[in-house]
Amino acid sequence: MSMARLAQERGVNVIVGSVTDIEYTESTSTPPPATPPPSDNMTPNGPPSPTLSSASVNSVPSSRNSRRKVSGIIYTNTQSGTSCTIPATTVILATGPWTSKLYPSAPISGLRAHSVTITPSSPVSAYALFTEITIPPTPQSPLHSNQPPNVVSPEIYARPNNEIYVCGEGDMEVAVPETTADVQIDEARCDDLIAQVSSISDNIRLGRVTRKQACYLPILNVGGSGGPLVGETGTEGLLMATGHSCWGINNAPATGKLLSEIVFEGQAVSADIRQLDPRRIL
Ligand SMILES: Cc1cc2nc3c(=O)[nH]c(=O)nc-3n(C[C@H](O)[C@H](O)[C@H](O)COP(=O)(O)OP(=O)(O)OC[C@H]3O[C@@H](n4cnc5c(N)ncnc54)[C@H](O)[C@@H]3O)c2cc1C
Repeated sequence: MSMARLAQERGVNVIVGSVTDIEYTESTSTPPPATPPPSDNMTPNGPPSPTLSSASVNSVPSSRNSRRKVSGIIYTNTQSGTSCTIPATTVILATGPWTSKLYPSAPISGLRAHSVTITPSSPVSAYALFTEITIPPTPQSPLHSNQPPNVVSPEIYARPNNEIYVCGEGDMEVAVPETTADVQIDEARCDDLIAQVSSISDNIRLGRVTRKQACYLPILNVGGSGGPLVGETGTEGLLMATGHSCWGINNAPATGKLLSEIVFEGQAVSADIRQLDPRRIL
């Protein structure tokens, strides 16, 4: 929201709502195919295929939707609850793990990750810790006594205002829900995280847990690439910025800059992002 506020200060009309559909009309122009980068070996939903060469990518239409063009979006206004339409010639889909709900052919799924925030018992120094903590087995029966110890890797970040943020590994047990408000939190996973980091810090153990939460990060289901997908989709006027996996915070400024170049200058100029071209896999 703070980014939206900054944009508003510069004159952008920010509307908060939930997009329910993208509207299309027939396109008269044929969009150019994606230019494959030198080593193109991406295949949707599977490992790299030795038979999918750059030439074969070039010879197929750049998108199943290449005869459509964007004409607007339909959304439900968060404040009024009414359904409205915004006519548009350019739409950028930046809906993370929810991308395929609006654009079903996008091979994007969600990985759930739990996190907690803690007020430590006394202030901590400004470090981020990428841990490997060995949890000894807790034998409940003689059968368990030979189990190897479990190694877990919670990440611990010092935040302003005497807060610590801890996040753990992802799981795919619960599919991406309709909205962020419907994300299911597995309290036991949060408690595991708290126990893990408490085992290496008295400051955390004696601190106060202030939040238990979970969220999804967008995963690209394509062999040979970890994503993201940034650029044109092959549907005229529809662009995409998604599939950032666990690097979306880091990559956000570059993604935004490159998208603005594509929209306003016709192509990405500050980096060669052919490898990220969504048209190669959509
Ligand atoms: C625990 C955890 C730790 C992480 N740590 C790091 C890190 O240290 N560094 C890093 O770089 N990255 C990190 N990431 C990854 C990073 O958070 C993601 O890569 C990034 O948030 C993806 O950004 P996005 O904008 O594509 O998607 P999101 O951040 O998921 O944003 C998508 C937005 O679209 C909205 N939306 C969805 N559908 C609709 C709709 N129909 N209408 C309107 N709005 C809609 C959602 O409400 C959401 O606000 C972490 C992720 C997790 C879960």
